[in-house]
Amino acid sequence: MREAGESAATVPAAPPLRLRAVGHRYGAGVVALRDIDLDVEAGTFTLILGANGAGKTTLANVMGGMLKPSSGSVEAFGAPVRYTENRALNHLGIVLVPERRRLFYRLTVRENVMLGAYSIKESRKQLDERMRAVLQPFPSSIRDRLDVVAGSLSGGEQQLLAVARALIAKPRLVILDEPSLGLAPRAIEAVYDLLAGAREQGATLVVIEQSGAVALQYVSHIAILERGREIYRGTVGSISQEQILAIGYVGHVESVETTSGEAS
Ligand code: ATP
Repeated sequence: MREAGESAATVPAAPPLRLRAVGHRYGAGVVALRDIDLDVEAGTFTLILGANGAGKTTLANVMGGMLKPSSGSVEAFGAPVRYTENRALNHLGIVLVPERRRLFYRLTVRENVMLGAYSIKESRKQLDERMRAVLQPFPSSIRDRLDVVAGSLSGGEQQLLAVARALIAKPRLVILDEPSLGLAPRAIEAVYDLLAGAREQGATLVVIEQSGAVALQYVSHIAILERGREIYRGTVGSISQEQILAIGYVGHVESVETTSGEAS
């Protein structure tokens, strides 16, 4: 019950994500995640950085409702994620953009975008309007090519299409697994510009990357994974860019000096 004089505005909203002591073990004794604690606050843009095999995809799938962790708890918007249906958490307004995009390459751009709206009960006309609005900030290479097959797009355009498919449902939280994989810096910037726009519209974002070179210009928070363990988390600015960029090449940070973050 609220105290006298306390308004609804003072009650903190449940955070989009809250992980406690999350661990995951695959068969044959492979431990992919160990004891991960992570809080993602509403309206933030978090970069999770890790080298090859650090556990990034495992963590993305755990956060996106696709993989039940072996241990620990995951809450999304205050509700425990139960993983009973082993699928993405669209009903909570959470969308996962998986590694390598998973587009339907023989379907058209329009059909791929519309797949992101499968759970939305609207008329065809309303859905068309929704798609036009979502695609408005996208480059003409996507907007004007709705009827070409996705497989004919460049890698950068395909990643933009995956973002459009994620955004059409107006998600509250978008989790992206290595969206910059295989893209040139300019194409990566195009993807991040659109993500920044989605954040301005109120979405919370979590992006998982092996290299933070472009992402760092956009994000507010950073966490670093090493061999399944979170070795650092803090706000951007609490760790030097050189240390962050080194993660992509050597997979570890030597004695992180923090200003406002936490090191472990
Ligand atoms: P990459 O950047 O190479 O994609 P990653 O950081 O995304 O790596 P994960 O794919 O989460 O890391 O893998 C973490 C660890 O778990 C690795 O040692 C990997 O070999 C192992 N692993 C991942 N998926 C499976 C699986 N289905 N079965 C067994 N082991 C797995």
